[in-house]
Amino acid sequence: MAYLTLKNINKIYPNGFHAVHDFNMEAERGEFIVFVGPSGCGKSTTLRMIAGLEDISKGEFLIDGELANNWGPRQREVAMVFQSYALYPNMTVYDNLAFGLNLQGVDEDVIEERVQKTAKILGLTDYLDRMPRALSGGQRQRVAVGRSIIRKVGIFLMDEPLSNLDAKQRVTMRSEITQIHRETGATTIYVTHDQTEAMTMADRIVVMKNGYVQQVGTPKEVYFNPVNMFVAGFIGEPPMNFIRRKVEKGCVTIGSSSLDLTGKLGEKAAEYEGKEIVFGFRPEAVVLGEQQDAYTISGMVELTEMLGDNANVYVDVDSDKVILKVTPHEIPEMDTEVAFSIPVESVYLFDGETENVI
Ligand code: ATP
Repeated sequence: MAYLTLKNINKIYPNGFHAVHDFNMEAERGEFIVFVGPSGCGKSTTLRMIAGLEDISKGEFLIDGELANNWGPRQREVAMVFQSYALYPNMTVYDNLAFGLNLQGVDEDVIEERVQKTAKILGLTDYLDRMPRALSGGQRQRVAVGRSIIRKVGIFLMDEPLSNLDAKQRVTMRSEITQIHRETGATTIYVTHDQTEAMTMADRIVVMKNGYVQQVGTPKEVYFNPVNMFVAGFIGEPPMNFIRRKVEKGCVTIGSSSLDLTGKLGEKAAEYEGKEIVFGFRPEAVVLGEQQDAYTISGMVELTEMLGDNANVYVDVDSDKVILKVTPHEIPEMDTEVAFSIPVESVYLFDGETENVI
């Protein structure tokens, strides 16, 4: 049985705003789930409903099969890490870590042992006597994480815990949190708007938009089999390229190329005749030049960006802007024409109206 079950969960705020619509998800014990989506899509609201900090307006929330809608945060056995570290400024790192256990009346020697163990996991042993103001952002965030993991809870909730850190610290903390998750085994729900965090950390990702779940899947599933243009464009960096065209005689014309989609559309080819579809491909799926079993398109190189291990090439195809990811040795000259091929299996077609994958 799933450890956490969210069944048709809705949130309607007192002002009438419907922030979350029919959210459905199950999490197994020990799973690392990431909620991802743009600002305002309802990630934090859902997390706060799981934490017991926000009422559930409609729907059922179960923990280990038991209806938990009306349980308080303590009964749910949750610990939460917020974006702002929320440390006590007048307490040492040791006392910040020990605080929750002290409240619970845990024995001093047990507290000492757990603080030392947590500090060791997080690399904070040398900082236990320091005040939070004498720590870097990354170290403060580690204390905040430590305060949650020290309590041995069943559910670990994190709301954008890395957003106050610089890029380098974020990468380090990302792997540290994954490591801590492995060691503690707590069922974790992690909120972020950063698709890289979602892809690198999650067992499963929940992609949200405007209060609606778009897709739930493993990082590979959402990357390789996005259900719609939103997910396809949100997951992956740079985002998937989209070219909108009308299907005529089974083909779309992109630049000087007429691309036959009948094979790709299969039985649905007739259905899309005369209608708009969106031709999608990832920047990293292209090969420069012509290729067998691929769609070849050409356009003008507008800009190139050398990134080190690869390069982005910005190409104008009939006023549609696309990005190609190439190796540093292949960077074409600016203001020249470039031909590129997309293997047939790497092309995604979306319904122009519903924007769902075809
Ligand atoms: P962010 O990444 O910016 O934190 P989010 O996806 O976590 O965004 P939420 O904080 O869950 O989004 O907010 C979802 C929507 O609900 C937003 O449009 C927000 O303005 C609205 N909202 C949040 N709290 C309230 C409230 N107390 N009353 C009314 N509307 C609210």
